[in-house]
Amino acid sequence: SIVVTGATGNLGRFVIEGLLEKVPADRITAVVRDQEKAAGFAARGVKIAVADYNAPETFDGVISAGDKVLLISGNEFHLGRVAQHQVVLDAAKAAGAALFAYTSAPGSLTAALADDHRATEEAILASGLPYALLRNGWYNENYTENLAPVLEHGAVVQAAGEGRVASAARADYAAAAVAVLTGEGHENKTYELSGDTSFGFAEYAAGIAEHSGKEIVYNAVPVEVYSGILTGAGLPEGLVAIMAGVDTSIEKGELAVITGDLSRLTGRPTTPITESIKAALQG
Ligand code: NDP
Repeated sequence: SIVVTGATGNLGRFVIEGLLEKVPADRITAVVRDQEKAAGFAARGVKIAVADYNAPETFDGVISAGDKVLLISGNEFHLGRVAQHQVVLDAAKAAGAALFAYTSAPGSLTAALADDHRATEEAILASGLPYALLRNGWYNENYTENLAPVLEHGAVVQAAGEGRVASAARADYAAAAVAVLTGEGHENKTYELSGDTSFGFAEYAAGIAEHSGKEIVYNAVPVEVYSGILTGAGLPEGLVAIMAGVDTSIEKGELAVITGDLSRLTGRPTTPITESIKAALQG
């Protein structure tokens, strides 16, 4: 079977949909916290396993010998993601999984949020399981799902200077994961997944202007000002630090590395940011 954690998340849903196009539903196990959120998948014959990274015993029996596992990284920073990921890794190791794939962060990224990913990668290598590291670059949706304040203020506000982002749509990264889970020869490979092209925030602002018909500028601010704006908007301190760190990384070019690994795995060009802008404005 193919076992996917985080299956009811934004990325996980695309992965399950992609798998359903390639393998029989009863060969897919969606690992979820909330069975109700997975009702649609269950109705289509996908096996559902209810498990939580914070309760290791809930993973008993979820993974079987020879399974291919996709661990989609968690989002509960405050609970310690490395220990959470270790729970899934231990279950895969105990069962004798054939492949352990993990959605990591780009090798070039030095922002603090990459630390959990680096530590998880080390644990995976130490486990001795056949692995595939999917070092996902940025999602277009990180930006295009937050257009409301941009349209309201007529400005894209970031602390990334002239830095560029080689992002792709979530659906592209999901398609790469599906290719690795259903294809051959991906054992012990590390993929640096990125968009085929990159954008700067001035171009991003121009794209929103073009597709919305509104005047939108890029307001590049120092990182302290950006942090202050996010704090003022009510974001928690930890998240503000992460977002500020990411923009510093973008300014240094750490998220602009284009490798072609993503479109090679999926066999199609990645989704340009303009496509995601259009989709978000229509949605
Ligand atoms: P989501 O937040 O939509 O999905 C996270 C998934 O993890 C959800 O399905 C959630 O379950 C599951 N999860 C969280 N905590 C636990 C837990 N304790 N036990 C079991 N499952 C858990 O994120 P995306 O799908 O958009 O992205 C996937 C991951 O990629 C993120 O979790 C994050 O690590 C990373 N990410 C990457 C970005 C990028 O640009 N490359 C941007 C943002 C995040 P449930 O459905 O029940 O909530």
